[in-house]
Amino acid sequence: MSSVQPPLITASTPTASARSCGTCTMCCKVYRIDDLAKLAGKWCPHCAIAQGCKIYDDRPQQCRAFDCVWIQDEAMAPDWKPEISKIVFSVYPATRFIYGQVDPGSPFAWQKEPYLSGLKAWSERLLQERRHLLIFVGSNATLIMPTGPVPIGPMSPADGFVIRETFTAKGKDYVATRVASGR
Ligand code: SF4
Ligand code: SF4
Repeated sequence: MSSVQPPLITASTPTASARSCGTCTMCCKVYRIDDLAKLAGKWCPHCAIAQGCKIYDDRPQQCRAFDCVWIQDEAMAPDWKPEISKIVFSVYPATRFIYGQVDPGSPFAWQKEPYLSGLKAWSERLLQERRHLLIFVGSNATLIMPTGPVPIGPMSPADGFVIRETFTAKGKDYVATRVASGR
């Protein structure tokens, strides 16, 4: 299984929330789950799509530890629920950056409204905390800045990146370049 396939990003202590998944099962599709040898972008064989996990009581630890931002952040609007937006957000533990993993069946979902405007506004708030927002379609990463998307290209969530400011006829822009994690 390729290491650049997006893994399920887990938290050591998933937090409690009043929200529930309901008919959403999007995280059971978009991520690679090593415990199940499940490929990213393919439905888990244990998933009853739009219903839930068929082995819920025996699901792997990776699944138990997944911390979905939409579930945790009750300020996120209903249309950002992953089954509607087609983007699953998680917090990368090492950096607290937000990573959005897009359903490969709807690879342009993040470029539509209200999502693109919402992502730019969200990135502006995160920057005040020295955090970043990245969108992944498969392993292809795009950094979201308040000015708009900045392509990075194939990268693993464990990789870093450097951001360089540029100045164009349209004003300030950015270039982002992957820095391999060495793992
Ligand atoms: S993506 Fe979030 S809301 Fe959807 S099933 Fe997974 S945990 Fe629940
Ligand atoms: S084991 Fe269950 S919770 Fe884990 S990916 Fe499969 S269907 Fe989802």
